[in-house]
Amino acid sequence: MINPLHRGIGMTSERTRKRLIKRLREKGIQDLNVLNAMRATPRHIFVDEALASRAYEDTALPIGHGQTISQPYIVARMTELLVEAGPLDTVLEIGTGSGYQTAVLSRLVKRIYSVERIESLQRLARKRFQELGFRNIRLHHSDGGLGLPEYGPFDGILVTAAPEGIPRALVDQLKQGGRMVLPIGQENAQVLVRVTRTAAGYEKELLERVVFVPLLGGIL
Ligand code: SAH
Repeated sequence: MINPLHRGIGMTSERTRKRLIKRLREKGIQDLNVLNAMRATPRHIFVDEALASRAYEDTALPIGHGQTISQPYIVARMTELLVEAGPLDTVLEIGTGSGYQTAVLSRLVKRIYSVERIESLQRLARKRFQELGFRNIRLHHSDGGLGLPEYGPFDGILVTAAPEGIPRALVDQLKQGGRMVLPIGQENAQVLVRVTRTAAGYEKELLERVVFVPLLGGIL
């Protein structure tokens, strides 16, 4: 078997990856831990081989089932928003997809639970984590809108598909002081939000316009 790390070498060279990191800096990503995690994560492993040559462009790419691997800038930005207040122990991610965001975040936290509703995407992601030797990722096939109450509460929650509003079930699974980063709103009118759980309820910061696939109910 071809070592997956060597697949498509050349197009995925050190230089190509460095260029992406430079671009992320230019776009305002400052956290060095986040930039290092992005540099260390081989995005070409998380897309179909036919798209490997485009893996280090700063764009979303299709991963099948009408879903997309998020744009690197967005992955870096959401990760930065989640971890900038300090290291996190246990994090929940909704929407594993290709597993790319999961892999980046897993380098910066102790343990990450990631939920995906489409089983075949989850299976592919699991294979990639095994190939790459990630050990602190736990995958679940379920409807992420409900969270994973049996494993919570969490220090952080990151949602990579957009619900129309802030899901109460997820806020309830945050520790006090814990944060959730998520896109909310309908297609073409989504905004990135950071929610911080407080004693009285939660606070929210509206950050920037984004484009995500919708958070859907039920499992496939
Ligand atoms: N972070 C992923 C993004 C994938 S797109 C990546 O970079 O590859 C968003 C993912 O959320 C899709 O895989 C979609 O199937 C999943 N999703 C949508 N609604 C969901 C839900 N209710 N529960 C779990 N996953 C969901």
